[in-house]
Amino acid sequence: MIEELKELDTLEILENVDLKNYTTFKVSCIAKYFATPKNIEELCFLLDILQQKKMRYKVLGKGSNVVFVNPSFDGVIISLEHFGKMKIEENLITVGAGYSLMKLSFDMASKGYSGLEFASGIPGSVGGSLVNNAGAYKKEIADVVETAKVLMPNQEIKEFTKDELEFCYRSSFLQYKNDYICLEVTFNLEKKDSKEIMELIKTRREKRMDTQPLEYPSAGSVFRNPELESAWKYIDALGFKGKRMGGAEVSRKHANFIINRGNATGHDIKCLILEIKEVVKNAYNIELICEQEFVE
Ligand SMILES: Cc1cc2nc3c(=O)[nH]c(=O)nc-3n(C[C@H](O)[C@H](O)[C@H](O)COP(=O)(O)OP(=O)(O)OC[C@H]3O[C@@H](n4cnc5c(N)ncnc54)[C@H](O)[C@@H]3O)c2cc1C
Repeated sequence: MIEELKELDTLEILENVDLKNYTTFKVSCIAKYFATPKNIEELCFLLDILQQKKMRYKVLGKGSNVVFVNPSFDGVIISLEHFGKMKIEENLITVGAGYSLMKLSFDMASKGYSGLEFASGIPGSVGGSLVNNAGAYKKEIADVVETAKVLMPNQEIKEFTKDELEFCYRSSFLQYKNDYICLEVTFNLEKKDSKEIMELIKTRREKRMDTQPLEYPSAGSVFRNPELESAWKYIDALGFKGKRMGGAEVSRKHANFIINRGNATGHDIKCLILEIKEVVKNAYNIELICEQEFVE
């Protein structure tokens, strides 16, 4: 298959790439192929061949919400890191799916646009964050999205409105459609004093640094907060802090974080998550919902 893909000699495609360097958990998983198309034409060309060969693929943003469970991935990882253009037309900011959400939050703050302050500590891409309706501080992507351009399975490009994206808590309809690829997102932001926005971002950043184990690889909070209580309180009360499974550990700083102590496998992380879920269920009859996606 690689020969066919190389027919388009501008398409960057590598073989046997360790996804350790492309996910925030920094867990090793060797992807058979890793493609970084530079534009829609290259992406469509790649998808055509994958369809013909019936080859498995997975689009990856910044890899901050996925756990590759196995030591290898027998398919193609598609990174949209080259989809990073930005266009500003008054209050409407259109950004490529591969753009870093954190960077966008800072860029907008420095230009005096308010609305993405909540995102300054979320290390995802714009595309992945739209798919997951990422959020914090009672704000989420859905609050600021105007439209999103999506490549459909028939290779038509469709612009979806906010309503059509069917946002819910930490999801949009794209989460259930693996073959829909978000290409770019248009945000509707408000003009505000840049210094004020930066001040808010700085305060929140300091709080995150104090309360979250950001010095270790992780994928952020593991479980959604159930209705009555924060997830970390149940996990902490059951004595999970510091509990290890191979190289995966429940953080001592924040019980709702699992960290990679250096050599964790995706399997270690998954097993630890499942154990916490089971123990919490038995102790409190609460079904914790995991935020991360396991890619098997
Ligand atoms: C330290 C830390 C703190 C975090 N804090 C928060 C927080 O406060 N709030 C929060 O909501 N999340 C948080 N997260 C989780 C994570 O950053 C978000 O879920 C983020 O939005 C995921 O984006 P991503 O680009 O990394 O997606 P990925 O993990 O790369 O992918 C997630 C899913 O989206 C799909 N996908 C990615 N890009 C596209 C695309 N262009 N088109 C179609 N499908 C696509 C992937 O196939 C995958 O199924 C945190 C993570 C870390 C590590």
